[in-house]
Amino acid sequence: MQIVNFDLEQELWMQEGACVFADPDLFFPVGSSMKALKQAAEAKAICNECDVKIECLEYAIRTNQDSGVWGGATEDERKSIRREYKKTGALITS
Ligand code: SF4
Repeated sequence: MQIVNFDLEQELWMQEGACVFADPDLFFPVGSSMKALKQAAEAKAICNECDVKIECLEYAIRTNQDSGVWGGATEDERKSIRREYKKTGALITS
């Protein structure tokens, strides 16, 4: 088990997320049904307009968030981003 230390006081970017008042279900779709895919697409559209998208994605990678849409990336998309991040230390997104 990996324990990641972080201080919520240091994650002030969260208050600036474009998702603050959005439906949380969009960001945590369940399964791979058409409804879930549509929810993820809606969440990613919100992320693409978000001023803290990079901070959010970096946080999700750094703290191993394994579900939901963070920084405009689904859990599957973050797996490949995380692999590259471990190799290069850089966030490389499409
Ligand atoms: S990038 Fe997406 S999930 Fe992250 S704070 Fe912005 S809107 Fe929310």
